[in-house]
Amino acid sequence: LRDPRPITGTTSTTCGYCGVGCTLNVQTRGAEVAAITPALDGPVNRGHACVKGRFAHGFLRADDRLDTPLTRSDRSGPLRRTTWAEAIGYAADELARIRDRHGAQSIGVICSARATNEENYLAQKFARVVLGTNNIDNCSRLCHAPSAAGLTRSLGFAGGTNTMDDIDRADCILLAGANPTEAHPVVGARITQRVLAGAKLIVIDPRRTGLADLADVHIQARPGSNVAVFNALAHLLITHGCIDRDFLAERTTGLTELTELVKDYHPGRVADIADVPQNPLREAGRLFGEAQRPIIVYGLGVTEHMHGTDGVRTLVNLALLRGAIGTDGCCGVLPLRGQNNVQGASDMGALPDLLPGYQPLTNDAARNRFSDVWNSPVPPHPGLRIPQMFDAACAGELRALYVIGEDVAASDPNTEHVRKALASCELLICHDLFPSETARVADIVFPAASFLEKDGTFVNFDRRFQRVRPAVAPPAGVRTDFDIIAGVARAMGADLGCVTPSDAMDECARVAPMFAGISHRRLDLAGPLHWPCPDRGKPGQAVLYLERFATGDGRAHLAARPYLPPGEAPDADYPFVLVTGRRLTHYNTGSMTRRTPDIDLTPRESLDLHPHDAAAMGVQTGGTVEVRSRRGTVCLTVTVTDDTAPGTAFCDFHFPHAPVNTLTSARTDEDTGCPEYKITAVAIRPVGR
Ligand code: SF4
Repeated sequence: LRDPRPITGTTSTTCGYCGVGCTLNVQTRGAEVAAITPALDGPVNRGHACVKGRFAHGFLRADDRLDTPLTRSDRSGPLRRTTWAEAIGYAADELARIRDRHGAQSIGVICSARATNEENYLAQKFARVVLGTNNIDNCSRLCHAPSAAGLTRSLGFAGGTNTMDDIDRADCILLAGANPTEAHPVVGARITQRVLAGAKLIVIDPRRTGLADLADVHIQARPGSNVAVFNALAHLLITHGCIDRDFLAERTTGLTELTELVKDYHPGRVADIADVPQNPLREAGRLFGEAQRPIIVYGLGVTEHMHGTDGVRTLVNLALLRGAIGTDGCCGVLPLRGQNNVQGASDMGALPDLLPGYQPLTNDAARNRFSDVWNSPVPPHPGLRIPQMFDAACAGELRALYVIGEDVAASDPNTEHVRKALASCELLICHDLFPSETARVADIVFPAASFLEKDGTFVNFDRRFQRVRPAVAPPAGVRTDFDIIAGVARAMGADLGCVTPSDAMDECARVAPMFAGISHRRLDLAGPLHWPCPDRGKPGQAVLYLERFATGDGRAHLAARPYLPPGEAPDADYPFVLVTGRRLTHYNTGSMTRRTPDIDLTPRESLDLHPHDAAAMGVQTGGTVEVRSRRGTVCLTVTVTDDTAPGTAFCDFHFPHAPVNTLTSARTDEDTGCPEYKITAVAIRPVGR
């Protein structure tokens, strides 16, 4: 029934789910969210939003929302409700004790792409200035770290080259390792509209997704074969003369090496590696080679591999070969960032080797500038990445872990190893909205505000700083991550110098030249700004590299990278490849969407199996199977579908009753430490109906 009470307020803010960054109007009745509608003038979404952004706000009033700090005095005892003063004092005393007794390197901080830029900025400052360590990382380590590394090495900046609007100008879209219809629905709709208007669509994905059905070519490549497929397309572009020789000569290096390498990647060989027919490869090469304005859009199916950085770089090669990058009107490369602020968390320097604005710790001038502004020396040595933190904890070298807004016990691969690491720490602190799997084993749990209760900014997948505004106040007893971090710092005798999120953004603009033109005031007056934005009098750069690439020599670097097999291949004992990903109505560990019953259209985990495989094991849709990897076992309900190829199974990771990450492997991309989530060798057997 329609609620007769009047709407009392409307707040414009940015969606806190995926990295598209839709602008939403949040209507409130008093202290409650009444409805959310997409903003017609939203620069990214133009009046569109998906089911999550529009309807997934019921979690705000969930019965198990944390509303007071919790602590436990010993590991075997229960968490008990306590006051903010006691919890903050306890956290400060324990962090100081461990730092002073065991050294700053014995503490690690894990930040979140769910938090605002200002919170990530404050957290990395806290780690570096108060704790004295660069052991600070964020969850982009688990998804798009290979994008940051690959794009930086090939092009110069750790971000996409163009904007969402360039999808509308493309005459050919190459979509690799992404299912935006479900994971980034507003981008999925934009691609669909463009294809219906006549653009060609090439999909490279082991699953038959919604957009694969619409595609001119679907290369249903074997998981882990991306580099071979991208090299095959480079081979076809070069051998058929579909390359921009002037652009390559003037603006790139590495063509000779790449040409030599991809001679071996003829479609016949790659068809075997990728287990696909040759024709789709040849047709994809033809379509991409003939396009005038080709754009590449990709997702975690490219990055979450043992050779994810190579995947990104060999994909970027294709745009460079066509001269379709760094040229206004041509279309570039867009990484679909998974979480709302995964770009921003890294932009803000929540990384073990880079300061805000991607300034290397090894750059003395940059480090000294931060030390001057922060009035404290910045430790010079790079810290630990998230997987290294867990290894160090298991080895007794890392004694305290401070986790801000991440449920690492559920979301990170090889759950048993993660849980062992958490149990090995003397001190585990976490911020969360709910009693998460990590909170259940923590010593101190701070109840944190959600994106609908916060002030700050997010950076979306096309490098756009957008305002986040509180539509409602946090529940009584709940604080923002910003206030919690500042409070712990104060209790440790430190003043982080930023009273408000706006102060933090202003300070970030002072120390990070690429954000020097950005402030809350300007965003409020003029709307979103793309980075780099070094000047308060000029707009940010929506399209990168129009004059030069941001590399040392100003040229883009083509990457001659060979195909290498994935870390874990199926064998006689584990004959299936398990791929994990998202479903439309849920988001990551499901902590918010599972607590919003209105949208819970997928109420339980399920395993997609090809009909041949299902028939061979005598299982039907609704049946139950045991899925076993070298690390663990879970039971899942089956959906029989030919969306997956024979020998490949797919499931999501949204439900704690089916902890899928007990299966996934701790193998990581050699360059960045990003886990190989997309390939797990498993055995599957029916256990009931
Ligand atoms: Fe939010 Fe992404 Fe949906 Fe837009 S597409 S409403 S940003 S979840």
